[in-house]
Amino acid sequence: MAKKKDSRQQSLPFERETLRNRVLGEILLSRQREVMAALKPGREAWDTQPGDQAECSAGQTQHDLDAELTAMRCRTLRLINTALSRLQKGDYGECKSCGDEIAEARLRSLPFAIRCKTCEDQREMREERERLAEKRAMKARGSSPLAQMLGLVIP
Ligand SMILES: [Zn+2]
Repeated sequence: MAKKKDSRQQSLPFERETLRNRVLGEILLSRQREVMAALKPGREAWDTQPGDQAECSAGQTQHDLDAELTAMRCRTLRLINTALSRLQKGDYGECKSCGDEIAEARLRSLPFAIRCKTCEDQREMREERERLAEKRAMKARGSSPLAQMLGLVIP
């Protein structure tokens, strides 16, 4: 994959990037410990296979809220693990969508971010639009089959 960093490489000494990665790696590891500790009760499976997605989505649903929280922690953990393995490979901090470098400030507050701010915003906007369109379509299906038939529903 072609890197777009050539022009910036001179102004960004190698040492600085290494330091950044070390700091962010520590943040990631401490987040990983936090999430795994929170996931632990009644989840022995996690001790052996922290990266396993199947274990993650399965079971332990006393309350919906619990399940939701667990699912959220699992997602976070997966993102953290991905970030850590990218850190090892050396392509950490690159935007998944445009390949550009993700701003350090963003990585510090969101160390497992996989997209730069611009791409993430675009993605969120797109998802929001899709959600809205779907909601409108569903509403229309319920209330006005005629409007739906005439194609007045989805913009
Ligand atoms: Zn991007």
